[in-house]
Amino acid sequence: MKLYNTLSRKIEEFVPLNTPNVSFYACGPTVYDFTHIGHMRTYTNNDVLKRALTYLGYKVNHVMNVTDVGHLSGDDDSGEDKMEKGAKKYGKTVWDVAKFYTDFFFRTTDALNIIRPDITCKATEHIEDMIQLINRLIQNGFAYKTKEALYFDVKKFKKYGKLSGQKLEEKLQAVRDEINVDKEKKHPADFALWFKRVGRFSDHTMHWTSPWGEGFPGWHIECSAMSMKYLGETIDIHSGGIDHVPVHHENEIAQSEGATGKPFVKYWVHNNFLTVDGQKMSKSLGNIYKLDDLEKNKINPISLRLLFLQSHYRQPLNFTWQSARASQEAFNRLKEIVSGLKNSNSSNKKLAKLLNKSIAFQQQFKDAIQNDLQTPQAVAVMWDMIKSDISNEEKYFLLMDFDKIFGLKLIDITEEKIDKNIIILAERRLEARKKRDFDASDRLRIKIEKAGFKIEDKGDTYTIKKL
Ligand SMILES: [Zn+2]
Repeated sequence: MKLYNTLSRKIEEFVPLNTPNVSFYACGPTVYDFTHIGHMRTYTNNDVLKRALTYLGYKVNHVMNVTDVGHLSGDDDSGEDKMEKGAKKYGKTVWDVAKFYTDFFFRTTDALNIIRPDITCKATEHIEDMIQLINRLIQNGFAYKTKEALYFDVKKFKKYGKLSGQKLEEKLQAVRDEINVDKEKKHPADFALWFKRVGRFSDHTMHWTSPWGEGFPGWHIECSAMSMKYLGETIDIHSGGIDHVPVHHENEIAQSEGATGKPFVKYWVHNNFLTVDGQKMSKSLGNIYKLDDLEKNKINPISLRLLFLQSHYRQPLNFTWQSARASQEAFNRLKEIVSGLKNSNSSNKKLAKLLNKSIAFQQQFKDAIQNDLQTPQAVAVMWDMIKSDISNEEKYFLLMDFDKIFGLKLIDITEEKIDKNIIILAERRLEARKKRDFDASDRLRIKIEKAGFKIEDKGDTYTIKKL
């Protein structure tokens, strides 16, 4: 398996620390608002990575955090606490807010058939672990106190910036002068490990006792503390959105390596952005789409998953409702093919063995996945395989095999009484249409209708219904 490692900026051969075990930490949601399709792209890509590793024989231990405290708006700790802000907005307690949005998050990931992490850990349940880690940083001379907070001293960590390649001087220029920035901070890039319940945070609802007084942890420390607690001081893979590279993940490295003196993560895997209609998702544009919006537009969440698979995780993806509908059509067609195959033959029987052509398709699929998760290529192999002349049994077998990584729930597709011969006619008709051979296409349509089925064309695909 080859994976792009943000740390080396290269595609590397994936060699876990303790093969076949793979320790995998994924940054989870901040549960103060609804999760949207941009987040879902990241979690689907994480899921594909995990499924791919499992497919290749690794045993993945997947840990994900839930940020239910301490994530301030703004990367420089200058803003309000997102949880408190969410609570105020919806007139609920912070704890209610966290529960409500955590439930919504999992409802969404379940709808996209994203396998739940082996361990999901909440920040609020790991305050003691964070305090212990901060203590190690104090002992190693990486932290300092102000009246308001306890900070990580980035200048003391010589390798600060190694993930993003940004120099501290560049950071200094990039940080804006925010009114809320603690005047006692030594460097603008220094980040809070612990906030004291004083000043602007004196009314903070979520707070705990610590050696530095009542307060609450900074956002970044939770990932270092929980990753180490569940997976050890050095882990194989850490993933997250590309927006986490310059601050959150840089800070995680500084805290973890500052405390242990060991490398924190072997492979950093980052997912690129999702835009909507060519623009960044934002409240003012009203384009922050979530699960309910898919339902309103009659888009099956699984077809959104298919849409995600058709772009590489390191490329930006532009979402439009048109592309979602096209993906829905493609998914409908795939479902019909699967139910046709299921219905048509001995697909329930154990396949004795794959023949040469099928083995080649399986190998092409595997090659695409092993090449830094080239899912668009893997999806193309699937369609080529469907169109090929291999037996229905082999097609069905390979679809189920590929779906271990795709996660389109193809196994759950119930049999519809559409004869395999109808599917074959429909596929031949599609080919004829593509070649603009409309005589042949019409003849095939009449044949299909005579057999009691109606075929409807939709762009490059079709649907079949019983008449
Ligand atoms: Zn994180």
